[in-house]
Amino acid sequence: MTFVFTPPTQPSVAVEDSDDRFPVRRIFCVGRNYAAHAREMGKDPDREPPFFFTKPADAVCDSGTAVSYPPLTENFHHEIELVVAVGAEAHNLSVADALSAVWGYGVGIDLTRRDLQLQARDMGRPWDWGKSFDQSAPCGPLHRGHLAALDSAKISLSVNGEVRQTSELRSLIWSVPEIVSLCSAAVVLKPGDLIFTGTPDGVSAVSPGDTLVGSVDGLQEIAISIL
Ligand code: MN
Repeated sequence: MTFVFTPPTQPSVAVEDSDDRFPVRRIFCVGRNYAAHAREMGKDPDREPPFFFTKPADAVCDSGTAVSYPPLTENFHHEIELVVAVGAEAHNLSVADALSAVWGYGVGIDLTRRDLQLQARDMGRPWDWGKSFDQSAPCGPLHRGHLAALDSAKISLSVNGEVRQTSELRSLIWSVPEIVSLCSAAVVLKPGDLIFTGTPDGVSAVSPGDTLVGSVDGLQEIAISIL
């Protein structure tokens, strides 16, 4: 069998303290998973079932990337997020068993064309043009294994040294095991899947020349610049 052209390179993310790379299969993202962010988006943060959207696997890019300011937007936002990396095939996982499918964790930024996302939301259209575009899923080096302080860890993001987002993972409306369990009820999770778990409040616009640094306690930072 021959392909009609050379297949694309396998999208992948760096692994902490290793030259190995984590091959990325799919990217799932959770919407409105911190109450204060739901409120700043004009929504009631009651514990409605979480909803998911996706980004293409090749939207992933490493820490250190200079991200091109994307077309079609005048309101390009950062969303700092804990990223869960799936390492096993998993379907209909219980919450109690959900972490058995987790390979590790990383710090990601769900880059968003906010104007396009809100326009789509308000018109009842898909979010894809607001969320799923080139270089829209930067992700720092993955830490293999479990996070010692999954509940008490702080999550934050600064732009040009000024803190814009800060919260704690315990403020997640839906916890990591709950998210993995729910995602595995909708699709068969496979090794290489990434799950962006939602962002706290403080999302804001960035411009060419800005430098973004994101962190979660216990994980390597992510730093990107905007071209
Ligand atoms: Mn997000």
